[in-house]
Amino acid sequence: MDIDPRFSTNVPAAQSAGPFDNLPPWAQVGVPGSGSGPELAPPPSDKRRVWVVIAPDKAGFSLVGAADRAAHQLETKLRDVQIQVLSPDSKLGGSILSALDFDHLPAKPSPALVAEQIRHLLEAVRPAPDDISFTVTDLELETPAGAAFVLWYVLEPAGLPNSVIFSTHHLDPAAWGEPMAEELRLATIERRLAAAMINVLGLMLGYQACQDPECYLYRPIERVRRLDYLTGFVGVHAELLNRRPTAEQEQQLRQQLAIHQEVLNSLEVQKAKMGDFTPPYILLGIEESKKEIDRIERQLDEANGS
Ligand SMILES: [Zn+2]
Repeated sequence: MDIDPRFSTNVPAAQSAGPFDNLPPWAQVGVPGSGSGPELAPPPSDKRRVWVVIAPDKAGFSLVGAADRAAHQLETKLRDVQIQVLSPDSKLGGSILSALDFDHLPAKPSPALVAEQIRHLLEAVRPAPDDISFTVTDLELETPAGAAFVLWYVLEPAGLPNSVIFSTHHLDPAAWGEPMAEELRLATIERRLAAAMINVLGLMLGYQACQDPECYLYRPIERVRRLDYLTGFVGVHAELLNRRPTAEQEQQLRQQLAIHQEVLNSLEVQKAKMGDFTPPYILLGIEESKKEIDRIERQLDEANGS
């Protein structure tokens, strides 16, 4: 097993091989997979897979955190989707994101230019034909003539069906000269991004837009602050709320939970053995496993009505 050089500091070769060989491919945290793309089981038949690719330009890891949390809200709000996040710090993302080359784009690139970049990226991701791909970046995109802002471009006209690029540039209070503490600023971007992605995804999944200003499926989003009021599924869309997983889905959640707990235990054992020499990818794996366990437990709690 090759260790990603970024994570190889202080890892003696003898210790880096072996202990993870029997983990499933997706648990090989921080290690790029072999071959040209990730090997993932297909999503359950009642779910649509949504790739959320987090591609920071200048914002770096502050965008990664905010976009990651926003992406996971898609899954908690819309149960018929399965989210697969790729980010610079994710197990699959590091090598795949190298397909992107924002540095050589002109300022405020057109959707066609951005689509060209994303095409390379999707070649590495190899989504199934029905999969949806969202790319999230802080790169400022070309603003259409006569518009004050652009929040996303649907890339189908550029030849990429089921693919949308979101830019957080205009979601950022700083872009409007609004002074704000850093934490609040990031929380605002996160909330707006989640609302924008749920809005777009809901319509892509075939739900109709509505005129309830609190509803995630409100259209049009004619000003950025509009997103601040989208807080749930209400009115004609209330039935999208509180949809509980079926018994079969709950069963799958419990299986996933068991796998993640097993992986976590195995990583914790390694950490205990290696002490100060524990490589960062194991620590990252522990973090990721805990996050997944937490997320699944929350879903199970909701399923049980608590
Ligand atoms: Zn609605």
